[in-house]
Amino acid sequence: MNEPLSVPFFRPSIGEEEIAEVVESIRSGWLTTGPKTRQFEADFEAYIGNDVQAVAVNSATAAMHLALEALGIGPGDEVILPTLTFTATAEVVRYMGATPVLVDVDPATLNLRPEDVEVAITPRTKAVMPVHFAGLPCDMTRIHAIARAHDLKVVEDAAHALPTVHAGGMIGTHGSDAVCFSFYANKTMTTGEGGMLVSTNAALIDRARKMRLHGIDRDVFNRFTDNKASWRYDVVAPGFKYNMTDVAASLGIHQLRRCDGFGEIRTARAARYDAAFADLPLILPPHPPEGDKHSWHLYIVRMSDDAPVDRDQFIAALQEANIGISVHYTPLHLMSYWRDLGNYSEGAFPGAEDIFRRCVSLPHFMAMTDAEQDRVIEVVRTVLGG
Ligand SMILES: *Cc1c(COP(=O)(O)O)cnc(C)c1O
Repeated sequence: MNEPLSVPFFRPSIGEEEIAEVVESIRSGWLTTGPKTRQFEADFEAYIGNDVQAVAVNSATAAMHLALEALGIGPGDEVILPTLTFTATAEVVRYMGATPVLVDVDPATLNLRPEDVEVAITPRTKAVMPVHFAGLPCDMTRIHAIARAHDLKVVEDAAHALPTVHAGGMIGTHGSDAVCFSFYANKTMTTGEGGMLVSTNAALIDRARKMRLHGIDRDVFNRFTDNKASWRYDVVAPGFKYNMTDVAASLGIHQLRRCDGFGEIRTARAARYDAAFADLPLILPPHPPEGDKHSWHLYIVRMSDDAPVDRDQFIAALQEANIGISVHYTPLHLMSYWRDLGNYSEGAFPGAEDIFRRCVSLPHFMAMTDAEQDRVIEVVRTVLGG
């Protein structure tokens, strides 16, 4: 008898073009930040549009850190962000010695609510960090209106949001101070590890370019190719080691070309799950308003009150059937460091806690086959008595 198909939570989609470019970059002898990184940045700028400038770094965490550093966020400052996010969104605030102020999320969208941001503002608030959860855009129009009224900086955690379209423009083009994308292995496109900081603020971009490489006023590429003064450089600040390698950028150049196609595949897979689960005791993922476009980075279902199993039993049954799952996320205020730092207790953010109690992320990736998705559907339907 055949073993039933096991389905991983994620499997990357790396094509022969990516592999050839990586090999070429290794053979060229230029391994670190150089021509491929430059090309990837230029390609990314063109892809996002609206005359943004892009700085390639080795993670979205680095991009968010550089953004807050360039914006002068420091001790005593408060930065508002949702409790339902990856810890990186909050940790970069601590890197700067500032305080993350968590807000609840809306169970209808899994995103923060602009009105909750407004309530959390104090005289110390300096910035807000919206997270486009699972790739569904936040209401940037209202968030920017609040930010303008209270003189706040806006740094978007767009780790899930490539490509996401909101109010007629791609995430990255709405005029925030900085927008940070992730190319971690299981994101919507990958460089293995990597990230991109996008902004139209030339001073911010200039600061981030220096700070991503030790605070040196010219990058290594110029230093070694401009033979007029190859040894001369100045250090303007104690910067970081956040530069992207050309080996990683080689992956990025080709992954970016496939980014729209990847998005279409995920959109189709999400629609297929939606149709297959319509009659089950599940809360299906929210769709964006008319005209907006979801990246469908994650496909998250939530157990309804009338589900025959709770979330943990559901996960156990899927794992028993060799279906990979994940949970996005345990709310930050329930994690010991953030709980203790902000003196949060259970019940502080009922929206996020309700989502967390019910949510499971199902396998949902570009390389998924129909047979794999059919197997996930079959197991989910069996467990939920469909
Ligand atoms: C993945 C992720 C990050 C961090 O991205 P890295 O590139 O791994 O640093 C930040 N925020 C969210 C919401 C993420 O999912």
